[in-house]
Amino acid sequence: MQQSTMCLHSGYTPGNGEPRVLPICQSTTFRYESTAAIARLFDLEEPGFFYTRLGNPTVDAVEQKIAALEGGVGALCTSSGQAATTTLVLTLCKAGDHLVCSSQVYGGTFNLLAVTLKRFGIATTFIDQHASDEEIEKAFTPQTRLVIGETLANPALSVLDIKRLAAIAHRHRVPLAVDNTFATPILCRPFDYGADLVVHSTTKYMDGHAVQLGGVVVDSGNFDWAASELFPEFVEPDPSYHGLVYTQAFGKQAFIVKARVQIMRDLGCCQSAQGAFYLNLGLETLPLRMVQHSQNAQQVAEYLSTHSKVAGVRYPGLKNDPYHALAQQYLKDGMCSGVMSVELKGGRQAGAGFIDHLKLCSPEVHVADIRTCVLHPASSTHRQMTDEQLNQAGISPGLVRLSVGLENTADILEDLEQALGSF
Ligand code: PLP
Repeated sequence: MQQSTMCLHSGYTPGNGEPRVLPICQSTTFRYESTAAIARLFDLEEPGFFYTRLGNPTVDAVEQKIAALEGGVGALCTSSGQAATTTLVLTLCKAGDHLVCSSQVYGGTFNLLAVTLKRFGIATTFIDQHASDEEIEKAFTPQTRLVIGETLANPALSVLDIKRLAAIAHRHRVPLAVDNTFATPILCRPFDYGADLVVHSTTKYMDGHAVQLGGVVVDSGNFDWAASELFPEFVEPDPSYHGLVYTQAFGKQAFIVKARVQIMRDLGCCQSAQGAFYLNLGLETLPLRMVQHSQNAQQVAEYLSTHSKVAGVRYPGLKNDPYHALAQQYLKDGMCSGVMSVELKGGRQAGAGFIDHLKLCSPEVHVADIRTCVLHPASSTHRQMTDEQLNQAGISPGLVRLSVGLENTADILEDLEQALGSF
């Protein structure tokens, strides 16, 4: 199936007389006819639902759809994007382990790694994703277990050279995980370029309507955990499942099953059936929306980049953008989603003045929505960062993040024009 067909049909095929639309299975639990049947589920000898924290038919259908869209062997929905990244890291790392992560990742990911997981003994070295291979390789230690980057970084709007980062990670026998939130599988499928794992904040374009919080971890099935020899928990018996060995029992799905039955079991950061239902509605129109968001944003970026009050626009769809070539290489038809960063002449004050004069485009702690929204990262999502860390992440104090929605571009441009003329 093509992606637009998958968006409508993957994950749920109704039988004769069954609901046409994916039903919300609003049940925490499932009935079985014998204790022996339940025991087989608990021992992971048979697939099946027994408690919604570990799996639910509505959530499962959406997981199958997202796995199909990314070209993976399995997916695990979580209660938020943050929960997805936490699940990703904790499935692979324990106290004493180490990660290599791009310094341009989303502020919440930076905080999770630099502060919270550090408190639990998992260390991270942040790298400049555009440094030479030699520079990046200096960050690796014998304890390194994972490399993380973002396809289209929030809000630096840099494009990750996925092939190169995957090759570096693999030289060190560890997987590359890519946060594919802004691109979505419609604009980029990181597994096609060698990434091993993908995470999303489904709160963004996948839902797209700002109605539910969610995340997802997707497994390509391509990383060979046994051959790496750095992941004993995948090849040695798990005492919490009577000595089950993930690679032996689940083959290519070893990672995603471990994430579900061990980390989701213990952390409980699951997606609800209701949340998955909303996410599924969003996914049905994702291909249409990603094309329109990208076309609208391209027009807005071209307009802003020539405006006398604008110092610069970062949008990889612009020909003079430093990431234009990478965008052409990695993003479908060079489409770059709806998000851009705008630097106004006059720094912090001008950025705030511009936002305060907008009428149609609204200030929100959100991006990737059908409605155009704006945000000042230095005073919101990235406020925990020092100036030096902000600069490393590619964010200046006067930067405004603009997420172009699906309104008619004539109306968006008119609003931007009047706001730029008002201060
Ligand atoms: N990853 C990226 C790229 C994001 O933009 C966000 C949120 O903005 C997250 C992860 C975290 O997702 P959530 O807000 O759903 O927890």
